[in-house]
Amino acid sequence: MPESNKAAKKRVQKANRAAGIGDETGRIVRVKEAAQMARCTICQLELKITKTNTELKAHAEGKHGKTLDECFPGAAAIAAELAAKPGKGGAAAAPAAAKKGGKKKGGDIGDLDDLLAAGLNVGKKKGKK
Ligand SMILES: [Zn+2]
Repeated sequence: MPESNKAAKKRVQKANRAAGIGDETGRIVRVKEAAQMARCTICQLELKITKTNTELKAHAEGKHGKTLDECFPGAAAIAAELAAKPGKGGAAAAPAAAKKGGKKKGGDIGDLDDLLAAGLNVGKKKGKK
């Protein structure tokens, strides 16, 4: 039985390892465009930066007993950028922000007054009971 596919894969993975790309086995994980990676300053492990940096934090704290910043300097800033970007799921935030910006100043004050009045009424009702 020929194992050409397997052998070829192994050879590529070996080359990748030598070149320092791919994961620890040399396998290249299909990367979505511009996935931001952070390399641990202590063990050189590369982890993907996410909005929450859960993996990175877990690695820094769990593996080294360090903070996120000590193991992945700059990762927090990139995560903040990711969180600020109106990406997948966050697209709805953009129109909402535009709407807010276009609102008249007077309208905001009126809304606030209404809210305050409503809050006071609710408070009084609750207090009597
Ligand atoms: Zn590490």
